[in-house]
Amino acid sequence: MNYRYTLLPALAVTVTTLALAQGQQTAAPFVVHQLKPNVYWVEGGGGNSGVIVGDRGVIVVDAKTSAAGGKELLDDIAKITPKPVTAVILTHSDGDHVNGLAAFPAGVKVIAHENNKKEQDAALAAGGRGAPPADHLPSQLITKNEDTLTLEGVKVELHHWAPAHTSGDLIVYLPAEQIVFTGDIIAMQLPDPLIHLEKNGSSEGWITTTKGIVGLKSDQFVPGHGDLQTKAAIQKRLADAEAKRAKIKELVAQGKTLDEVKAAVDPPPAAPAPAGGGRGPAFAPFSQVVYTELTKK
Ligand SMILES: [Zn+2]
Repeated sequence: MNYRYTLLPALAVTVTTLALAQGQQTAAPFVVHQLKPNVYWVEGGGGNSGVIVGDRGVIVVDAKTSAAGGKELLDDIAKITPKPVTAVILTHSDGDHVNGLAAFPAGVKVIAHENNKKEQDAALAAGGRGAPPADHLPSQLITKNEDTLTLEGVKVELHHWAPAHTSGDLIVYLPAEQIVFTGDIIAMQLPDPLIHLEKNGSSEGWITTTKGIVGLKSDQFVPGHGDLQTKAAIQKRLADAEAKRAKIKELVAQGKTLDEVKAAVDPPPAAPAPAGGGRGPAFAPFSQVVYTELTKK
C-alpha cells in the first residue's frame, strides 16, 4: 500500500511539469447547471452557453471561445443526451461566444442576427487572432426585431430591440420554460453595461433592450457571464444604468469634459476593462461610452 503514497505525488509533479513545459493552461472544467428537464446552461471557457434538448436534436446558445472549449462543450452535451447538436443560436459576434464553433460538426445550422453576420464578416476580413471560424459563419439570419422559431419541437423566441452590446444582439427566450439567455447585455464582470462602440452598440439601446428583457415572463435569466440572475437583479442593474446615464447627460449639457464626467460618476480608480472579455478592443467605461455618444454630433 505504501507505494501509493510515494508514487502518486511524484506522478502529479511530473504531469504538472509536463503541462507547464508544453505551455498548456490548467483551466477548470466547465460546470453544467440544469434549469429544466430539457434546459441547461454551461459555465466556463468564455461566455455562458445554453443547451436545449429537443425532440431529435440539441439547440446550443453560444459556443465558447476556442475549438478546445467548443469540444469540451460538445463532450458535456454528450453526457446529457445522445442526440446531435443541430442548431446554434448566437447572442452576438464576440469571439468568446462564437469561436468554439470551430469544433462543431460541419453543416450545423448557425442562427444569428443579420448585423452579427456583418460583424463576423468584417472580423474575418481583418483576419488575425480572434477571427471567427470561416466554415461556421451564420447560415440563418434574423432580420426582424422579433421572430419565433420552432427548433426540434421547442418554441424559441428571438428578440432584437435595439443595438446595445453590439449592433447584432439577439435575446433568446423560451416561452414554455420561461428562461431567457441575455448574452452580454447582462455580463456580471462589471456593474455597468458593456457597450462595443466599435460594433455600433449603444447605451440608449442597452436601456431599451434591458427594458425588453425584464418585460419577458421569466425569473431565470442566464447572463453572458456570471451566475443565473433573477428579474429583480436585472431591474436593479437597469435602474442603476438609467440613473448613471441621466447624470452623465446632465453633466454633458453643462459642458463638462470627459475627465470631469468620469471624476463625477466613476468610482476611483476608473473601471478597468473586464478580464476574459475575449479578444479585440477593451471596453471603454460606461461613462466614456455615454459621453462619446452624446458629444459626437
Ligand atoms: Zn462575452
